[in-house]
Order: sequence, then C-alpha cells, then structure tokens
Amino acid sequence: MPRQIPALSDFRRIVVKVGSSLLVDNIAGRLNLDWLASLADDIAQMHREHRDMLVVSSGAIALGRAVLKLGSGAMKLEDSQGAAAVGQIALARTWSEVLGKHGMTAGQVLVTLQDTEERRRYLNARSTIARLLEWRAVPVINENDTVATNEIRYGDNDRLAARVATMASADLLVLLSDVDGLYDAPPAENKEAKFIPLVERITPAIERMAGAAGSQLSRGGMQTKIEAAKIATQGGTHMVIASGRVAHPLAAIVAGARCTWFLTPANPVTARKKWIAGTLEPKGILTIDAGAVAALHNGKSLLPAGVIRVDGSFARGDAVLIRGPDGTEVARGLVAYDAEDAAKIRGCPSAEILSILGFGGRAAMVHRDDLVMGGS
Ligand code: GLU
Repeated sequence: MPRQIPALSDFRRIVVKVGSSLLVDNIAGRLNLDWLASLADDIAQMHREHRDMLVVSSGAIALGRAVLKLGSGAMKLEDSQGAAAVGQIALARTWSEVLGKHGMTAGQVLVTLQDTEERRRYLNARSTIARLLEWRAVPVINENDTVATNEIRYGDNDRLAARVATMASADLLVLLSDVDGLYDAPPAENKEAKFIPLVERITPAIERMAGAAGSQLSRGGMQTKIEAAKIATQGGTHMVIASGRVAHPLAAIVAGARCTWFLTPANPVTARKKWIAGTLEPKGILTIDAGAVAALHNGKSLLPAGVIRVDGSFARGDAVLIRGPDGTEVARGLVAYDAEDAAKIRGCPSAEILSILGFGGRAAMVHRDDLVMGGS
C-alpha cells in the first residue's frame, strides 16, 4: 500500500535548509531580505506551535564574494574560505535580526564534516544543539568554511543539513531550493518531464533521475539532494524538497505547493521515541497506579484515570517521567496537558475532561506514540 504524504504539522523538530541562490541576489550582490523575512515569519509560526526549529543556511561564500566583488568565476579554496569569512558575519547577523524580530534567539553553529563523523565531536555538537533547543533558541548552522580543508569539506550544505538533521534527531528536513522537487527528467530541457511527489525508497531509477543540474550559485544540484535524502531517511528523518522561489515557502508547503517527499523507512515513531528518551529533559513527574503501569506495559496510552499524582511545572508537549506507585520509573513521554490541568483531571475518567476543564482535550494524558517504556 503506498504511504501517505505527510503534513508539516505532523513534525516536532524540523531542520530548514536554505540554499545560497535563494538568500543571495547575485546580480544586486546582497541578501534577499524580504524573502528571508517571509521565511522567518513561517519559522516563527511553527516555533510558536511548540516545534523545535533549526536552520542550515548557505550563502556565506556567495555573500562574501559579492561584498568583495570577486566576480563569478571559479575560485581557489583560500579565496572561497576568505569569502566565507566575510560573508558568514553578515549572514549570522541577518539571521539573528530576522528571527529576533519574532522574539526568537538565534545561535550560530559552524561545523565541519569531522564534527558530524567523529564520535566525540559528534556528541559534542549534538549536545550543544540540544541545549540551544532546550532554551528554545534556533540553531543557525553552516559549514565552518574558513577552516575546512578540501579533504574535510562537506562541499555542499544539502548533505550537511541531512547530517545535522539526523544528529539532532529531527523528524523532518526541508530543503528549500530553486527547484520544486524531483522530475523524471531535467524539467528545463524536457517539457514532458513528470513530477515525482513521493519517493518511498531511493532506488537506482530515482538516482538516475537526478541530473547534475544546479544553479550557478549553489553547489547542490539534484544529485546532492538525493545524497542528502539517503542520509536523512537512513537516519530516521523524512525529507522534503520544495521551492524557495516563493514568499512564505513553509506556509506554501502547508497550503499544498508542489514538493517531493522522501520517506524514511525507519518508523518515524521509533525515531521520535529515541528523541523523547534521549534528548529531552523531563520537566515533571506523573505517578500512576498499578493498573496504569500494566496498561502501559501492554502498549496502551496513559489515561488521566490512572494518574495519582502530578509533580513539577510543565507545559503541554513537555517531557515527563512516569513513575509507578512505588516511585520507580516506568516510562518517559510527552504530556498532553500542562501541569495545572493534569492535576485537575488526574484520577478522572476521560469522558469528564470537558466538564472539568471547560475544553475537550485529548483522551490520553500521554499518548502511546509519545511514550517510551523503561526507566533508568
Ligand atoms: N557553506 C557554503 C556557504 O555558506 C555553501 C555550500 C552550499 O552551497 O551548499 O557559502
């Protein structure tokens, strides 16, 4: 049975990768600020809806080269690195400003290939990003172009974004680019080219469809996007390629704009559970009765009726520890009510939630998809 195309609202932690050609107007030699502001609006909206948002932003080299008036020809490594040094400062400041207008804090993270491949560095980069997300900051990530030598370069931010997405246990990577997705032939040359909205598995046929086409500024043609899709989907992260040639590009995806989805064969629930168990700091404790402990072991959701005590101050969607009547940890999960409401409905049948709270929330206090069994 073909799998469904997901909706952006299904995801909790999203990496948005922005290509150089979208950010930098190479004729005017400056950033496309209006477009960037519209993207920041979209990011802010999703951030307000309790999603963790991360940005992988290219554009340092393109911007530096424009500022330095280096022309458009091929550049030597040290020229690109120098250009990146100039461009990255402006890029970081701009992201900090556009996100700051919405009350979001940006944190710059510059990484090299080694940082995502060597275990110790990987763990370090991962915990820095996790901490930024706990603070509700938006990590703005790029390759550390000025120190990366040829041998340790990513070379393109599509693959970097895919690594970052799996490293951060994101459940979705959005690649915004100057193409709106994958076609079975290069659409510029072939008017009959057929659009592919959904890729469930990256087969050799899919790889063949990815021509080498790319715009002048970005190094990433469709081939690097397919490479990125492989890394992301193998790591339990869905990926979508969508056009960044429109204002409000994320809202456009929500509204049904054409895009290509690559689905991870890994069960996204499993990937999310990894995230719940490993990354999130529990904000409170739910103590549950023996009947609820048994129900949880049978794969059921935690209902308010089984909760005997609520401790801590947490908001809806926060991680909580779930303890049995004797205090041992049984599970961790994302709670569907804030602490105050959870305390009001504890011990009550779900059918009474509406009359107690004045609104009909979820039947489960912690849904089974948001639960990870096993304590420490
Ligand atoms: N890291 C490069 C930059 O910021 C971009 C690489 C790419 O275009 O994928 O300029």
